[in-house]
Amino acid sequence: MNNEPIVPAPAGEQGLAISVRALHKSFKSVEVLKGIDFDVRQNEVVCVIGPSGSGKSTLLRCLNGLETFDSGSVTVLGHHIGESRTDLRAAREQMGMVFQSFNVFPHLKVIDNIMLAPRKVKKVGTAQAKAAAERLLAKVKLEGRGDAFPRQLSGGQQQRVAIARALAMDPELMLFDEPTSALDPETIGEVLAVMRDLALAGMTMVIVTHEIGFAREVSDRVVFMDDGGIVEQGTPTQVLEHPQHDRTRAFLDKVL
Ligand code: ADP
Ligand code: MG
Repeated sequence: MNNEPIVPAPAGEQGLAISVRALHKSFKSVEVLKGIDFDVRQNEVVCVIGPSGSGKSTLLRCLNGLETFDSGSVTVLGHHIGESRTDLRAAREQMGMVFQSFNVFPHLKVIDNIMLAPRKVKKVGTAQAKAAAERLLAKVKLEGRGDAFPRQLSGGQQQRVAIARALAMDPELMLFDEPTSALDPETIGEVLAVMRDLALAGMTMVIVTHEIGFAREVSDRVVFMDDGGIVEQGTPTQVLEHPQHDRTRAFLDKVL
């Protein structure tokens, strides 16, 4: 690294929230990301689809520094991930992530799960954090459930708490890694509905999902990954209705 001061480029400079170039990542001798170029515009909703093991989670984890990478560049909201801790911290504060396993804290009430990061990280006062958490509970259709413990909620409700918790940091960008894959079928719809509301409100979102119907309806762009690379991408109609590659067709034949 050179000694120039790190001045985060304004995120909107090229209208890009995420810019990934020539990203390579190996686990031991196995290359799992083989040169990914991936951009997400501000306010864009991108669904990433592809078979298990194709590198979707690893790509997402490289975006928020949960995984290191070997070469290439990852820029999120003007911050250069992997170059300095300051940049990573700044990027993380503006980026929420929701995982397949709704990782809410089991020993904390719902309201305390949601208030935790704003209080600890942003030093928001208790009353203000609580008011914000109540508003978020309403947003994820869980008003009045703040005093419940996670174990008293269904999987779909817990996942909505996880979404509210991520939103509590007022992020510019949300990453979702198969947020409904661990849910009972009857609770999937309520989580997708909350995500759809977020998309309609203009949140920038990257969503790894097997819910093809949701991807078709909600996303601006669908990205198909296979074997560590992006095989094709385009509008939902282009990729889902008129795929150009045999691998995309084979995948869609299996999941549709
Ligand atoms: P996807 O999310 O598309 O299913 P992943 O990004 O989880 O794919 O995994 C891509 C490849 O990397 C797989 O072959 C997986 O086994 C491997 N992999 C993922 N995480 C690790 C890890 N921590 N150590 C070793 N191999 C890993
Ligand atoms: Mg995965």
